[in-house]
Amino acid sequence: MLDLIIRNAKELNQAPVEIGIQDGKISQVAEKISEEAKREIVLGENQYLSAGWIDDHVHCYEKMNLYYDYPDEIGVSKGVTTVIDAGTTGAENIGDFYEITREKKTNVFALVNISKWGIVEQDELADLTKVQEKLVQHALIDYPDFIVGIKARMSKSVVGNNGITPLELAKKIQADNEHLPLMVHIGSAPPELSEVLAKMEKGDVLTHCFNGKSNGILDKTTNKIKDFAWDAYRKGVVFDIGHGTDSFNFQVAETALQEGLKAKSISTDIYVRNRTNGPVFDMATTMEKLHVVGYSWEEILEKVTTAPAENFHLTTKGRIEAGFDADITVFELVEEDKELIDSNGFKRTTKQQIKPIKTIIGGVVYDN
Ligand code: ZN
Ligand code: ZN
Repeated sequence: MLDLIIRNAKELNQAPVEIGIQDGKISQVAEKISEEAKREIVLGENQYLSAGWIDDHVHCYEKMNLYYDYPDEIGVSKGVTTVIDAGTTGAENIGDFYEITREKKTNVFALVNISKWGIVEQDELADLTKVQEKLVQHALIDYPDFIVGIKARMSKSVVGNNGITPLELAKKIQADNEHLPLMVHIGSAPPELSEVLAKMEKGDVLTHCFNGKSNGILDKTTNKIKDFAWDAYRKGVVFDIGHGTDSFNFQVAETALQEGLKAKSISTDIYVRNRTNGPVFDMATTMEKLHVVGYSWEEILEKVTTAPAENFHLTTKGRIEAGFDADITVFELVEEDKELIDSNGFKRTTKQQIKPIKTIIGGVVYDN
């Protein structure tokens, strides 16, 4: 007796299959499942599913003041089965964050900020005594299944007078710890983006990749992607959206696409203020923005499932395959105009919206 069977289960542009779920895992994907189950769901003709959406840049430690949210407000209720908190906490408060998240429906993982209290203050890397490799290592030992990487925020308001040094410290911590995934936030200079990208390696995640700031990837005088951004892209630096309040610009994303440069992963950088007041609102809206830029739905779905799972080594997530976690998002594509606004107030209209209908996490079904 299986726990759950999903019948008429269609991924976009694929033939319907049946998905069997047992003990929180996908146990089989087959044309026909003859076994019985405690519960069955039959998807409607206009409903599709994908592996559960993964948002690899959020802020959801609710005890913070600057950037915080509640995992289930940005996760299960929005079609997102897994969130990765991007450095809200550091070694000294990540344990409390871990405890709180055990109660949540949404899967929560975290990148540990190299600064020991995370983003308690905006300039967490202005005082380098807060960056202590030993503390980070202890956190990694204490929470090995929760911490999936490290985070360094490399922009003027965060690093103060320290220039590129915090990134050098982050790269050292990364190298000493089995080459942990590293996410780097970018913004205004100093440090110059060229310096930041020169230090980043294949697999390192550059978040806020399509921000509209002058220290971004677009040269605004020529309207071309800067050469050093192309160099980083070609060497395998992962371009991640990290939309956020200030960090997604349609023109940058469109120009990059015209030149053939695409984000690998789509993430929101969501927290309570940009969720309630915009411009982020939720993962679906962020996906619609990439659709209006010109990405296909197939590639958008890949960028919120297999891509973030690969970025952060979530080896049991991101695919609908036997043995993988039973994290699934059921959605509809609705032909209906919607106005979308980027971080700089520029607007586009999508003709097609993506609407999560059910969020399935570890085989448990939640209606949206
Ligand atoms: Zn950031
Ligand atoms: Zn962020």
